[in-house]
Amino acid sequence: MKKPMKLMIPGPTQPEADVLEVMGKPVVANFGTEYTAFYKSTTELLKQIFKTKGDVFILNGSGSSGLDACIGSAFSSGETILVGVNGFFGERLAAISEAYDLNVIPVESEFGKPLEPGIFADKLRRNPKIAGIAVVHLDTSTTVINPVQEIGQIAKEYGVPFMVDAVTSLGGIDVDMDAWGIDFCASATQKCLGVPPGLSPVAVGPNGWEKIDRNPAKGHGWYLNLQVWRKFATEWGDWHPFPVTMAVNNVAALRKSLEKLVSDGVEKRTEHYQRLAVYLRKGLRSLGLKSFTPDEIMAPVVTAAYGPDGVNTSEIIDYLSEAHHIKIGGGLGRQLQNKIFRIAHMSPSMTEKDIQEVLDALEQYLISHDRKTILT
Ligand SMILES: *Cc1c(COP(=O)(O)O)cnc(C)c1O
Repeated sequence: MKKPMKLMIPGPTQPEADVLEVMGKPVVANFGTEYTAFYKSTTELLKQIFKTKGDVFILNGSGSSGLDACIGSAFSSGETILVGVNGFFGERLAAISEAYDLNVIPVESEFGKPLEPGIFADKLRRNPKIAGIAVVHLDTSTTVINPVQEIGQIAKEYGVPFMVDAVTSLGGIDVDMDAWGIDFCASATQKCLGVPPGLSPVAVGPNGWEKIDRNPAKGHGWYLNLQVWRKFATEWGDWHPFPVTMAVNNVAALRKSLEKLVSDGVEKRTEHYQRLAVYLRKGLRSLGLKSFTPDEIMAPVVTAAYGPDGVNTSEIIDYLSEAHHIKIGGGLGRQLQNKIFRIAHMSPSMTEKDIQEVLDALEQYLISHDRKTILT
C-alpha cells in the first residue's frame, strides 16, 4: 500500500482524526432552533479565540473570502487605505483593496523583516485622507510576525479602523482582538484551527460597525457584504442566522476542533509549536541549512529555510514528496519562489518525531545529491 502523504505545508494542514470523522457524519438541516443554537455556540467559541466581545460570522469560503468581506464592507471605492506589505499575503491585502478601487498606500518592509509601526504613524500624520489600515499578523509566505499590537495603538490614536489578516495566526499564536484595537479580523479553518479548508471566521468590533454604518454606499456586493450577514443574524436570528446555506459539515468539524483548542488553550498550543520550531531550526543548522528569519523573530507555527547554495528549492520539495511522502511548501511569490522552502508545524498532532522525520529526509536529500558538506 502506498504510504500516505504527510502534510507539512503551511495550509491546508492535516486535521486530527476525530475532526475529520465529523466531516463524514450525515448532513443536517442548516436552520431551525437546534441548528441555530449549535451555530451560535460555535461562534461563541470563536469569540474566545479571537478574544473579542464583537460579532463573529462564519463565512463559507477560504480565508481570502473573509479578508475580502472586511475590506469590501468597510471601505468605499475611492477611499485611501494604508496596507502593510512585507510578504505575499500583504500583497494580497493590497490586491483586494485595489479590486475595490481603494487608493492603496503600501507600507513596505523587506520580505523577511517585520513592518515598522513608526512608518504608519508618519503617513497618518501627513495624510488626513487615510481612512484605515490593513495588515497581516503572521505572513505565512515569510514566516514573519508583524507588530499588530503597536500598529493597532497607532490606528486608535488617529481614529482609523484597523483590519488584520489572522489567517495563520488564529489558534496558533495569541490574537487579542479587543485589547489590540483590531476592528476587523479574518481567519480560515485550514491553518492553526486544524479543520479542512472551506470556512472563514470573521470578527467585527463596535468601531468596525461604526465605520461600516458611516459608509453611504452600504459596502460592496452582497455575498461578502457584512451588512447582509448582520441583517440575517438579526432578522433571522432564531432560525437561520446567515444569508446562505451554511457548510454544515465543515462547521461541525470546526466545532469539534474549537472545543479541543479552547480546552488546551492557545498558549499551550503556542508553547508546543515553539518547541517544534526550536527543534527544527537546530536540526536545519546541523545540516548546514540556514533559516530564512533569525531565531529572535522565529514564528512558532511555520519555519522557512534556504536550500544549499545554488539549489532550486523545488528540487528538494519534489524529492521529499516523491521519496519520503512528506509534502512541504515552497517560496511564494516572485521574490521567494525556488529560493526557500517552508515547513509547517501548526497541527496539534505534530510531534518532535514528525520534525525528526522531515530532518532525516532532508539529510537523505543532501547525501544523495552530494550536498552534505557541513556536518558536525
Ligand atoms: C493562507 C493564507 C491566506 C489565504 O487564505 P486562503 O484560504 O487561501 O484564501 C491569507 N493570509 C494568510 C496569512 C495566509 O496564510
